[in-house]
Amino acid sequence: MPELPDVEIFKNYFDQTSLNKKVTSLELVEKSILAGISEDKLKKHIEGNRFTKTFRHGKYLFARNNTGYFLVMHFGMTGRLEFNEENREPEYYKMALRFKKGSLYYISIRKLGRISFTGSMDSYIEQRKLGPDALEIGREEFLKLASKKKGMVKPVLMDQTFIAGLGNIYVDEILYNCRIQPRKKMQNMAEKDLKRIHTCMGHVLATSIKAKAEPGRMPQTWLIKKRKEGLKCPKCKGRIKKILIQGRGTYFCSGCQG
Ligand SMILES: [Zn+2]
Repeated sequence: MPELPDVEIFKNYFDQTSLNKKVTSLELVEKSILAGISEDKLKKHIEGNRFTKTFRHGKYLFARNNTGYFLVMHFGMTGRLEFNEENREPEYYKMALRFKKGSLYYISIRKLGRISFTGSMDSYIEQRKLGPDALEIGREEFLKLASKKKGMVKPVLMDQTFIAGLGNIYVDEILYNCRIQPRKKMQNMAEKDLKRIHTCMGHVLATSIKAKAEPGRMPQTWLIKKRKEGLKCPKCKGRIKKILIQGRGTYFCSGCQG
């Protein structure tokens, strides 16, 4: 499922392939992915215009065009972007932005992705009650927000209204890197634990983006390559354990994170 690092890679990809080119047409294959705008209105705002800048907040990608409005993309469980110069249509694409040369396809195997449109990125973020972006949040703000939280750390970090951008895989990775048990309660965290989480979060996200969000390029010592019960922990002699936390498969090392 696309999380913050994946969406950051989609943002860079959008910038490299689709900025400052006139959109000759917008094709919508699956109308049910639209949220809060009709197909006609979306076409009217997009066609004939150019995207000039992109922004990311959490797992949302915003592409602003020369009229000052934003196309908003959320990638659900399986979404991604693909540009093709020869307009070779990929499987499962739900929307295409056509340019004079080539098309950008928004692909989603399941229909859980969402496309919307807004005049204000800030009010869009506010309406969804999204917290600060996980890559952008400073230490002081993180400590302030985290110290008010209760309950197990993993679901708190996954809660998009607390901080935006983290999902199942990266929360496990962050907690593994900072040696904190995913079931540990927020109210039992010392300030130094919260500082460690903030530092690890920045490190894991920045390293993943550098690795183009591909697990194969990530450090050998990371959990992401060992997400299987019983595998040897790359950092200690412990074994990887799997538990369910609020229905989500959660991996951790009972040695490192005991
Ligand atoms: Zn370990």
